Amino acid sequence: MLERLYAGLPESTKKHERFVMPQTDSFIQGHKTIVKNFSTILKAINRDNKHIFKFIAKETATSAAIDDNNRLVLNGKFNREQINRLIESYVAQFILCPECKKPDTKVIEKQGIRLLKCEACGAISSVKGL
Ligand SMILES: [Zn+2]
Repeated sequence: MLERLYAGLPESTKKHERFVMPQTDSFIQGHKTIVKNFSTILKAINRDNKHIFKFIAKETATSAAIDDNNRLVLNGKFNREQINRLIESYVAQFILCPECKKPDTKVIEKQGIRLLKCEACGAISSVKGL
């Protein structure tokens, strides 16, 4: 299902020239917030899943889990805008290169310090809390 959706996207969103963050599709159920398309977001981010979990849990001061349908489940009520803002701030802090704003970065370790290296422009930057 997701594969098919992804294949149907225009060519430009597949390339990493400009980073297009998928908007979250979430709803509130009881006291929980469920993000239906979290696996799509993970795919777009292409990073260690545990890291974004930790980030989301910390930012929302709640616990994050993945259910059997690969949906993100948060304890607490968060609207779509809040979730989008969270993902955007994650991307801005940990994915986009501070120099050229491209998403072609990876985490490297140098003398025990984790750094963000941009494969597009070569810039190496420090990342807080990574
Ligand atoms: Zn760069």
